[in-house]
Amino acid sequence: MRTLVTGGAGFLGSHLCEKLVDAGHDVLCLDNYFTGSKDNVAHLLDRTNFELLRHDITQPILLEVDRIHHLACPASPVHYQHNPVKTVKTSVMGTIHMLGLAKRVKARMLLASTSEVYGDPQQHPQTEEYWGNVNPIGLRACYDEGKRVAETLCFDYHRQNGVDIRVVRIFNTYGPRMHPNDGRVVSNFIVQALDGEDITVYGDGSQTRSFCYVDDLVRGLLAMMDQDDHPGPVNLGNPVEFTIRELAEKIIEKTGSTSRIRFEPLPSDDPVRRQPDITRARRTCGWEPVVELDEGLDRTIAWFRRLQR
Ligand code: NAD
Ligand code: UDP
Repeated sequence: MRTLVTGGAGFLGSHLCEKLVDAGHDVLCLDNYFTGSKDNVAHLLDRTNFELLRHDITQPILLEVDRIHHLACPASPVHYQHNPVKTVKTSVMGTIHMLGLAKRVKARMLLASTSEVYGDPQQHPQTEEYWGNVNPIGLRACYDEGKRVAETLCFDYHRQNGVDIRVVRIFNTYGPRMHPNDGRVVSNFIVQALDGEDITVYGDGSQTRSFCYVDDLVRGLLAMMDQDDHPGPVNLGNPVEFTIRELAEKIIEKTGSTSRIRFEPLPSDDPVRRQPDITRARRTCGWEPVVELDEGLDRTIAWFRRLQR
């Protein structure tokens, strides 16, 4: 099986490449290193079934592959808002290029979409039937609307050209190899706690997220790709919901840090609540997460400690 992973040098992509290489796939990892790095996949470079390719998916590319895990796109608000026009281009043009490739070589393509397609959700928890509540002109729109168009493209290529698609909506995922400066909440809090700096809670910290450990998530991507019946969309995430303040307190306690919580203004359009309904993932591919936040945080904190040494 020749498997392309776009965004393969990023946080999720590098873990996915690792699992695919171990499972014996011929893995082609494609990345432009905007937020990913060679370091994330350095340990795979001497494996004969792993290949690394620098390419920007806003440009077309000709390859021969059987499967495409399409993950390339900056994922943290700090990164995707750095160059919002480029973020839209990556989602829209990049996905067109990957679907065009899938169509030509008859590959199955999985799109890494996001819980952000639900925007600031008015339905709780979020099921896949919910159409979302997205501000189309806000600061998060380059990412949210970009992914919504990417989903539209998948389903139109599927209906119009018979492309074999899988769409997953990933909810907040954390773990080793998160970029220490990506501004996402788990990495931010851990880095701040280890440095003894104030923990920056935006708003009053009552907003919620549901955090999935990376190993669980990658298992979900593989399970969804491997089943033959359902194109999706399917939510992948851990349904246990925490407030951001609870997360901050947990990380302070686990790191034994002297850090204090400092409240800062809430960014615009920041969703108030988020929790996946994963009934469909359970039904279609028998998937559910098993790593609890406590255990996942311990592993992630240990990784960040090693990084800082
Ligand atoms: P990440 O930023 O670590 O990885 C994205 C990768 O894509 C990086 O290696 C980056 O260099 C690469 N990339 C970006 N633009 C590119 C381009 N134009 N051409 C080629 N490569 C490009 O983020 P991640 O957390 O690993 O996210 C991976 C995917 O999963 C993204 O599509 C993201 O939207 C989706 N997702 C992630 C989460 C999460 O919590 N981690 C949640 C929802 C969705
Ligand atoms: N957040 C926070 N402090 C930080 C970083 C993030 O309080 O240093 C909050 C942020 O406002 C949001 C939540 O944590 O409510 C999750 O933020 P993240 O950027 O990780 O993901 P997303 O908002 O895309 O779910």
